[in-house]
Amino acid sequence: MSEEWDKKLVGLANYIGSEWSKDPSTKVGCVLANDRHVPVGLGYNGFPRKIADTPERLNHRPTKYKLVVHAEVNAVLNATQSLVGTTAYNSLAPCSDCMKLMINAGIKRVVFPKPSADELERWGESFELASDMADEAGVEMVQLSTPPAPPTPMTLDHIAYRVKDRLAAVEWHVTLGYREETVFVIDFDDGSKATCSVMIPEEGPEVFISQGTPGSIVDRWVDAHGGVGAVHHTAYRVDDVGLTMAQLGMKGVKFLSDKPLTCPGLVQVFTKPDPRTGIIYEFIERESQGFCQENVKDLMISTDEEKPHEKS
Ligand SMILES: [Zn+2]
Repeated sequence: MSEEWDKKLVGLANYIGSEWSKDPSTKVGCVLANDRHVPVGLGYNGFPRKIADTPERLNHRPTKYKLVVHAEVNAVLNATQSLVGTTAYNSLAPCSDCMKLMINAGIKRVVFPKPSADELERWGESFELASDMADEAGVEMVQLSTPPAPPTPMTLDHIAYRVKDRLAAVEWHVTLGYREETVFVIDFDDGSKATCSVMIPEEGPEVFISQGTPGSIVDRWVDAHGGVGAVHHTAYRVDDVGLTMAQLGMKGVKFLSDKPLTCPGLVQVFTKPDPRTGIIYEFIERESQGFCQENVKDLMISTDEEKPHEKS
């Protein structure tokens, strides 16, 4: 479990560095986390506040090296609490200067990916001194056996429609070459129901089609969206739903739940209706089926509270 967290948080550090650092050659991120794996400090390499990161300065190595503040230093300075006993998750092995600072800040573990041959050539000596200091000061150095996996691009997993006439929509999809694989019924506490068909194509994303009994949450949603049917959400398959939430959360994306929803073989999360498209986005990791009835029910109930576009 700890190794899993090590990979996740180094992945987050890697993301922060690659997204936020303006350094043209080496983008580094650092996440400081407490023993519950909650981030308490973040940093990436960059110039000090108010110091302009102009291309002239960034592209002239001697100037850049003099002006840049390393990711670990920024993370320590930005920390929201005492760092005694915390772990630093780095996207690059720490240099000896940063190690001095981390030792004195009380950081007890440093996790980083295996350096590349190129990184070893440029900073190998500094990494070695850092590692010797860590040994002497009793800081645990954890080198991951693999570099952070390059993220596999997200692919469309399924499209979910809500319609007035499910059978007609199913038939239309059969015409398009889909077959109906499963039908399931969700029972709501007020006695209303929703019936969902899972349509499988020859190849490519599945289609989910839901219809509610008159007056049900799903039926009212369809009425609020023109009365025939509409795309309710599109789902993208990702490597790690929790990491995707952290990454998109930093870009201001709002989710319907604080944590991913889990079912056996399935992890998923839903955004709030996106202000740019009006639909909900789902991010999913799955072994086989792309739905779980409990989660579908919870999603239907939660989107009723959202009431997207009801008045429009
Ligand atoms: Zn450093």
